[in-house]
Amino acid sequence: MAEANLAQCEERVLAATEERQEEIIDLACRLIRTPTENMPPGGQEGAGQQVLHQFLTDSGIKAQFLDLDKVEGLTQHEAYLPGRDYSGRPNLIARLPGRGGGRSLLLSGHMDTMPVGTNPWQHEPLGAQIEQGRIYGRGAWDMKGALAAMAMSLAVLDDSGARLGGDLLFESVVDEEHAGCNGTLASRLAGHNAEGVIIGEPSSFRLFPAHRGFRIAHISLKGTAAMSLSGEEIANPVEDIGRLIEGMKEFRRLRRQTAPIGPLYADYPDPVPVWLPKLQAGEFTLHVPMQIPEECKLEVYWQTMAGETRESVERQFLDFLDELCQREPALDRDSVEVQWHQRWMPGTQIPPDHPLVTTLRECAAQVLEEAVAVVGGPFPCDLFIFNLYANTPGVILGPRGENAHAADEFVYAADLVTLVKIYCLMAMRWCGVE
Ligand SMILES: [Zn+2]
Repeated sequence: MAEANLAQCEERVLAATEERQEEIIDLACRLIRTPTENMPPGGQEGAGQQVLHQFLTDSGIKAQFLDLDKVEGLTQHEAYLPGRDYSGRPNLIARLPGRGGGRSLLLSGHMDTMPVGTNPWQHEPLGAQIEQGRIYGRGAWDMKGALAAMAMSLAVLDDSGARLGGDLLFESVVDEEHAGCNGTLASRLAGHNAEGVIIGEPSSFRLFPAHRGFRIAHISLKGTAAMSLSGEEIANPVEDIGRLIEGMKEFRRLRRQTAPIGPLYADYPDPVPVWLPKLQAGEFTLHVPMQIPEECKLEVYWQTMAGETRESVERQFLDFLDELCQREPALDRDSVEVQWHQRWMPGTQIPPDHPLVTTLRECAAQVLEEAVAVVGGPFPCDLFIFNLYANTPGVILGPRGENAHAADEFVYAADLVTLVKIYCLMAMRWCGVE
């Protein structure tokens, strides 16, 4: 298509998006009002997938469900996380077929949300209340706002009469939270792939061509459960755990020195965090008599960079622990037990000058009328499935908001309209337009 016509076509699509802003926000609100909590081993995503399916079908776009239990090779795959139940919670996949001759693009998001949590909300958690331009609700930012924008992008493009060269695909996957990713993996194995993917995770209009991975270790310090009734001295793991906690500060320093921190994370104050989210020992209540506890457990969560392997990450941690125990008389390595918790999540990255990133950056900058930052994503997510297991370059771009996984989560309503414009522009430039 000639330059002038292409520009006209883009203008038409942007104007059409503007006209449908209420519809975009309404779709996001309907998704937020539909509970889709991920509760391993099960989840409630089915109802949300129905809302999207209905919207796409009403818009004249073919959408199909993908039953994870019917995907060949899924449960045998090395990235599959076992122990999940997928009855009544399929993936949803839609495709806007291109005329051929262009690259295909996939818009991908997850339908599941974290639980509402125990912290008090000022807004109804599933109410989708709109206040001062913010849509409040669990999943609003992470990531039903983006899901609505993605589905709407297909509808706007289809309506506009602009025929794309390559196919434009959209998927709403299940079970991404809680380090899931089985839904994302299932779609890849079932062949719903493209030559590039955009994931709408909350990125506040920055582009993330990378995300960090993580590992969780539970370290138990063992003692003997006892009550010193005859006056003997008893080793108490609670008293010795302090050495381990101090040791983890050293582990943090070691990580900063040794992890392959690339330029995308260079400006992060803490590029490879090591956190201690939980400490647990003993119990002493009216119903449980006081005693020296048998064990004290420290949970350690640390993030990893693209290129680090499960083996190298675990080895480094165990070597560090061995060395710490050798120089700390209070820590006997034989009474320190390490258990790996949850799955290994690798970090991942594509080159920041990849055409997928540079093209999307141009589209976003044009719509936002300002430069767009390209940095590493702070949170682990399902992007690695595309890069490592489907040979598909991927990048994260989503709206602004706050409080993902916390009380009073919200997304900016106007950002969803902006997002549709960016996704549509990108589809036209990446896939080509006739
Ligand atoms: Zn998410």
